[in-house]
Amino acid sequence: MANSKYEYVKDFEVNDNILPHTWIVIRIDGRAFTKFSQAHQFQKPNDLQALLLMNASAVAVVEDLADVVFAYGVSDEYSFVLRKTSTLYQRRARCVSIRVFQFHVSVLLCSLLTSVKHLTGFGLSSCNLLISKLISVICSLFASSYVMNWGKYFPETKLQYAPAFDGRAVCYPSESILRDYLSWRQVDCHINNQYNTCFWNLVGSGKSTAESQNMLKGTTADVKNNLLFDTFKINYNDLPQIFRKGSIVYRKKVEKVVKVEDGQEIKRLRSCAVVEHEDIIRDNFWTQYPYILGG
Ligand code: ATP
Ligand code: ATP
Ligand code: MG
Ligand code: MG
Ligand code: MG
Ligand code: MG
Repeated sequence: MANSKYEYVKDFEVNDNILPHTWIVIRIDGRAFTKFSQAHQFQKPNDLQALLLMNASAVAVVEDLADVVFAYGVSDEYSFVLRKTSTLYQRRARCVSIRVFQFHVSVLLCSLLTSVKHLTGFGLSSCNLLISKLISVICSLFASSYVMNWGKYFPETKLQYAPAFDGRAVCYPSESILRDYLSWRQVDCHINNQYNTCFWNLVGSGKSTAESQNMLKGTTADVKNNLLFDTFKINYNDLPQIFRKGSIVYRKKVEKVVKVEDGQEIKRLRSCAVVEHEDIIRDNFWTQYPYILGG
């Protein structure tokens, strides 16, 4: 690698403000999916195929990146939770010690540092750079998987243009705050779904969008539930779990056929990414699978 006088510009990438020992969540969100969903005739309020395509893209990310231990998705967004003992931290520790060293011995040892960098495989760049790499890798992997799988979920609909996703990283300092973050997303899923189900049923019954919005303005959950039941004969709790709870992705040991011998299927337990629609607000799920956040 060239060692030029211009190399110093890399120092501008160093901005070490990611807290150690925190949970990192990377949340991606479809860019202008209100328009995208219209352009591709998504069913309102919930297009099942669109959700399944989001889930397939999330599975691709979880299967590719071992550091992602859990993911939660709703609408056009997905949150990816990174393992707390992620190699990011080991890298960070190395980075910091190398930079302190660099600070004391100054540029004279620049070539030595370059060889350290080569030997260890870790750059001088900070955790922040690794985070921005991670965000961009997750976003692009998600988007390319979305496009690759489009035809499988929308065989009749031509993809009109390239979809994009934005991404951000947020750090949460404890497991309980991380759980609160996930609960916040799942509660949001419920609130939006309840509102949207009312709204689109009102619109479907012939009301204008403005009228429907006005009718729902400031109404409580109970009022919305009653409206759905009394006017549209919909029992909210009977709606598919994927609409009400969103989707979770995590690794689980499941029986898989590994080969067929003399017409007999040979099965083995294999760890793979599964998609479910469980409640993640209560403790149940987390006590059943302690390895997800604890391992
Ligand atoms: P931004 O770029 O700011 O995210 P946006 O238009 O994507 O803008 P969001 O708040 O992310 O705004 O909302 C997502 C939009 O995509 C909503 O309008 C929602 O109805 C639509 N959408 C996403 N997934 C589905 C789906 N499975 N079925 C129907 N509509 C969907
Ligand atoms: P990283 O994930 O760290 O970026 P990398 O393998 O992508 O790892 P780069 O330093 O980005 O490493 O190097 C890009 C690699 O892709 C090189 O091995 C380069 O030879 C190969 N490559 C990229 N574009 C072309 C191309 N047009 N023709 C042939 N090889 C290419
Ligand atoms: Mg957004
Ligand atoms: Mg969006
Ligand atoms: Mg969104
Ligand atoms: Mg590369």
